[in-house]
Amino acid sequence: MADYLELVGGELRQLEQNKTFKYEVPLQSAQDGVVEVRGRNVVMLASNNYLGLSNHPEVRKAAIRGIKEYGYGVASVRFICGTQDIHFSLEKKISKFLGTEDTILFSSCWAANEAFFASLTNEKLGMETYRDVIYSDRLNHASIIDGQRLCRAETTDRKIYGHADVDDLVRQLEEDRAKEYRLRIIATDGVFSMEGDLAPLDRLVEVAGRYGAILFVDDSHGVGVCGKSGRGTPEAKGVHGKIDVLTGTLGKAIGGAAGGYISGRKELIAYLRQKARTYIFSNSLPPAIVYGASAAIDLLMKDRSLVRTLKNNTAYFREEIVRLGYTILEGEHPIVPVMLGEASVAQDMSGALLKAGVYIKGLWYPVVPKGEARLRAQISAALKRKHIDRALEAFEKVGRSMNVLGHRGVT
Ligand SMILES: *Cc1c(COP(=O)(O)O)cnc(C)c1O
Repeated sequence: MADYLELVGGELRQLEQNKTFKYEVPLQSAQDGVVEVRGRNVVMLASNNYLGLSNHPEVRKAAIRGIKEYGYGVASVRFICGTQDIHFSLEKKISKFLGTEDTILFSSCWAANEAFFASLTNEKLGMETYRDVIYSDRLNHASIIDGQRLCRAETTDRKIYGHADVDDLVRQLEEDRAKEYRLRIIATDGVFSMEGDLAPLDRLVEVAGRYGAILFVDDSHGVGVCGKSGRGTPEAKGVHGKIDVLTGTLGKAIGGAAGGYISGRKELIAYLRQKARTYIFSNSLPPAIVYGASAAIDLLMKDRSLVRTLKNNTAYFREEIVRLGYTILEGEHPIVPVMLGEASVAQDMSGALLKAGVYIKGLWYPVVPKGEARLRAQISAALKRKHIDRALEAFEKVGRSMNVLGHRGVT
């Protein structure tokens, strides 16, 4: 018999030694363009608060109204007594925004992704014998991977294709063409969070159509961010309204509190209300969040200035950080990976930047490949030009003192 506390203690020491221990720095303020850390104001470059709605006056007001009109919580799952009319209203609003037929809310996008795959593949649906297959992008989010892990191996084949590699996907679909699969599902992130790159959704829509596959896209980092009106990666790639199954979070651009959804054909959504285990056996979203998310989408639909500010801020930061002599990954997304190479450089630099008034996180092996350690900047519409300039000054000062400037470029 082993002592479990000794086992977990050993693992914790290992994480510290490998420099993969995740430290939490408490904010002493609301999430915003500038936050308070250890009694000091610092520029936030690490949040998913892309549109700056986490602490937006309209969203705050709506959330408070939610509590006033509908209370703090419903103390129930949806189908027993946890559905309020505002849940259906928000679902309708999301469908309208995304150009889909219907939407089902979850407590998180994690819960949505965990529900989707098994709800379809583990059910016979009138067929005594069957096999399904899922093709998944190599860099898909952990929640997509875990969602697929719930699929029974006896009835589901799970395959991985190279990151954003449509040719590799087609090769595998072609290889499986003669197999009598019941369902073929292609699963991808809309935006990949380590690189800030967009999935080739235009090509994936075409390929899914050609092979009769269901295209599943988790657009958590895309919704509210990508496309002219913030409708997400499908809009940016010219395939708005053409994705079979769209999931996403309300915990990033769309208010930043919590909640997730699956959006798609009405038959599928009706089916998921009957079968999705994280929907049926888990509490419905509280009114404050429902109203807050709803206000966030209203703001987005009312005018495009939030999305425009985000895009302008992103373009400005990308241009200026390269001018300073940093190397970034090319793109347009507010996720801007600043490439540093060695893990120790990224570690030291994120610490030095916090001291210099910038909150930013580093990523290194095993989260990204060895030698590709980076700082991941995330730009927000909450940032004023002066805040971005303050961050850039800190980047210049710290970069100079650590001697990492001068490898100017975009890769
Ligand atoms: C953030 C994220 C999630 C998790 O969303 P929650 O609503 O916080 O559970 C799921 N998928 C992707 C791609 C994400 O980026």
